[in-house]
Amino acid sequence: MKNRFEVGQKIIAIKDHAEGYFKKGDAFNVLQIDKTCCVNVVRIFNAKNISGGMKCVCGCSHKTNSYLFNENSFNLFTEMSEMSYNEALNVVSNNQLITK
Ligand SMILES: [Zn+2]
Ligand SMILES: [Zn+2]
Repeated sequence: MKNRFEVGQKIIAIKDHAEGYFKKGDAFNVLQIDKTCCVNVVRIFNAKNISGGMKCVCGCSHKTNSYLFNENSFNLFTEMSEMSYNEALNVVSNNQLITK
């Protein structure tokens, strides 16, 4: 499975992390890409993971000294991702006005 992101890209969280490491809408730079046995993961923090491990979505433990997160919790950061839903709707209706 190919990683969706590359090191250096800006990404935005699309959901709150269950343990509060990030919130929906938080933006990060991809510092490292990696994979566990079943998901692609990204490193977004410089801080060391002192627990020395992470749990994969399947439940198995992986040894790592970095905080790694499932890449599916993120989307590539674009100007659109900064827009609220209502702003996005306005853009759509404005475009419709122009084409009428
Ligand atoms: Zn595993
Ligand atoms: Zn797994």
